[in-house]
Amino acid sequence: MHVDGSRHPTTWWHRLEDGRVRCDVCPRGCALHEGQRGLCFVRGRADDTIVLTTYGRSSGFCVDPIEKKPLAHFLPGTAVLSFGTAGCNLACRFCQNWDISKSREVDTLADEASPEEIAETAERLGCRSVAFTYNDPVIFLEYAIDVADACHARGIRTVAVTAGYVEPGPARQLFARMDAANIDLKSFRESFYHDVCAGHLQPVLDTLELVALDTPVWLELTTLLIPGLNDGEGELDAMTRWVVERLGPDVPMHFTAFHPDWKMRDRPLTPPSTLARARRIALANGVRHAYTGNVVDPEGQATRCHWCGAVLIGRDGYDLIAWGLDAEGRCAVCGTSCAGVFDPVPGRWGSRRMPVRIGARDA
Ligand code: SF4
Repeated sequence: MHVDGSRHPTTWWHRLEDGRVRCDVCPRGCALHEGQRGLCFVRGRADDTIVLTTYGRSSGFCVDPIEKKPLAHFLPGTAVLSFGTAGCNLACRFCQNWDISKSREVDTLADEASPEEIAETAERLGCRSVAFTYNDPVIFLEYAIDVADACHARGIRTVAVTAGYVEPGPARQLFARMDAANIDLKSFRESFYHDVCAGHLQPVLDTLELVALDTPVWLELTTLLIPGLNDGEGELDAMTRWVVERLGPDVPMHFTAFHPDWKMRDRPLTPPSTLARARRIALANGVRHAYTGNVVDPEGQATRCHWCGAVLIGRDGYDLIAWGLDAEGRCAVCGTSCAGVFDPVPGRWGSRRMPVRIGARDA
């Protein structure tokens, strides 16, 4: 195999005694011969080192509501410039973004954009943040870091949407540049990560603890509930207890609906009742803010004061329809602080989705 595309240098690798070079970014630890790519497809061995082939190249840009990431407690109502590259270091059979994450075609990367161009575009379009999403920023770490630095120089915040399948060293380097993260906790069973995602659970739990306990990053979690696979009451009970005990009660959890896709078309859509049940279990176990997603459910998507129950943020889909926080992010009724990152007033972006072209190439 030949490693073409751009060859951006990387540092997270080391040489093995048998002559191969091992990538140290994620727990896969791909050991590569010259010309081979890792499982993520975007990192590969060229000229005896590991290079990143997607630096400066994107599968598309879009201005989204921050609620869509999903983040419910990070600058609500504001616009976020979202982008991704190609490839992924997990192989989830239910992938909901497989056209990007499983892309073997560098042609998917229609846009070229420097970190400075992305930051400038976000500022020009009134975005408060830039999100690394669509595919996992872990695998394009060097590009994400440079984009984050360019954003911070302009006062733009940064958001990582990731599966958290990353080694501690690169994780610290990446999350040091992030202001917020939504990390998937796909299941609480090793067998699910192994059989359905071709990965492991423990590295994800380690990343969650690292981000929640050792960084100032605002963290929210997402679990896509797949009927019959990861929606059991016992599993959700154990998962949500772990979240409260190890990460704390203020880490919001999002339970979102699966739709049949990629290699998993034999499962039905997640019933809204399953999402509501997961939310109930989380709240009963002490998670202060649990949400449903990908369904119409105003109660399941409202932020309530964990102390007095007043509605702090009412939502209709991605639109904010009620605001009950004071300028310091406290409940306007009882004065209890709500965990999160809040402006004195909510943003007004609403539910709009606006595709953006930056440095588009000729097809
Ligand atoms: S980041 Fe990619 S190349 Fe590196 S270990 Fe993970 S899958 Fe392999």
